[in-house]
Amino acid sequence: SSNMAKSKFEYVRNFETDDTCLRNCYIVVRLDGRNFHKFTEQHKFAKPNDNRALGLMSRSARSVMEELEDIVIAYGQSDEFSFVFKRTSTWFKRRASKLMTHVASQFSSSYVFYWKEFFGEDQPLLYPPSFDGRVVLYPSNRNLKDYLSWRQADCHVNNLYNTVFWTLVQKGGLTTAQAEERLKGTLAADKNEILFSEFNINYNTEPAVLKKGTTLIWEKRDETVTKRMKLPNAEEKEVAVTRSRRRVQAHHCDVIGEQFWEEHPDILED
Ligand code: ATP
Ligand code: ATP
Ligand code: MG
Ligand code: MG
Ligand code: MG
Repeated sequence: SSNMAKSKFEYVRNFETDDTCLRNCYIVVRLDGRNFHKFTEQHKFAKPNDNRALGLMSRSARSVMEELEDIVIAYGQSDEFSFVFKRTSTWFKRRASKLMTHVASQFSSSYVFYWKEFFGEDQPLLYPPSFDGRVVLYPSNRNLKDYLSWRQADCHVNNLYNTVFWTLVQKGGLTTAQAEERLKGTLAADKNEILFSEFNINYNTEPAVLKKGTTLIWEKRDETVTKRMKLPNAEEKEVAVTRSRRRVQAHHCDVIGEQFWEEHPDILED
């Protein structure tokens, strides 16, 4: 503490490097599951998309938004989630390592904590999973939107590939090696055509959560509760009390076009 003389060891603190994030930039922390190729196999995830796992990812991301400060939007797909801190945030003096490690550990512990809520008793968690994290700064609204568009485009490309791949395996009777061979060099239109003409699947009608990923934002809701109130010299009576609550809301919509941003003008700052 301050009134004690500094120990002779204290100088080692000066070896810490300054990782303050540049002011005015959005701070994005992206997490990605470590070695989830193996993790998903060992935990018998449905292929290509295990909905229990997607639910658990979103639940963990919601916990991050609720427990940490200043996250205005989060976007997730597959084994990854990105968290965007508002550009004026001063949480932990904008120290990158503090923000990133708090996001990663809150997410990881939530993933374990809520596992049973999504996987029940049929699939126990076999070992502690982990997530890597990185910090990227985006100085403009355009850059931030393009970042989220990039992740959503990645979601689409991977999901289309995985959908055809696993359809060829599960319904077409191909081995994984044959399915891979079959898809070499194919374009999006070819993949849509395989799904439609050979398996009668219209990719457009696949669930939005798979095609678009999950976007979490804060939403204001008016909540009305009735309270029993006792005023002095009056009878006790029921009174309706309305207050504005914010809660995390999940969307599975397009974030590449402008519509989403026009419908939610409060997310981005000038
Ligand atoms: P790394 O440690 O480098 O990230 P990784 O094995 O996690 O390695 P990724 O590129 O992150 O590699 O791929 C994630 C893997 O997890 C993919 O194989 C993907 O299909 C699988 N996966 C993620 N979420 C789900 C899900 N909900 N259902 C089924 N499989 C999933
Ligand atoms: P910050 O988020 O800034 O780290 P903090 O409350 O965690 O805040 P620390 O300086 O990390 O502050 O202090 C850790 C606190 O936890 C101390 O009050 C310490 O006494 C308490 N603590 C840690 N381990 C134990 C333990 N094994 N038994 C009892 N108390 C503990
Ligand atoms: Mg991974
Ligand atoms: Mg990944
Ligand atoms: Mg502490």
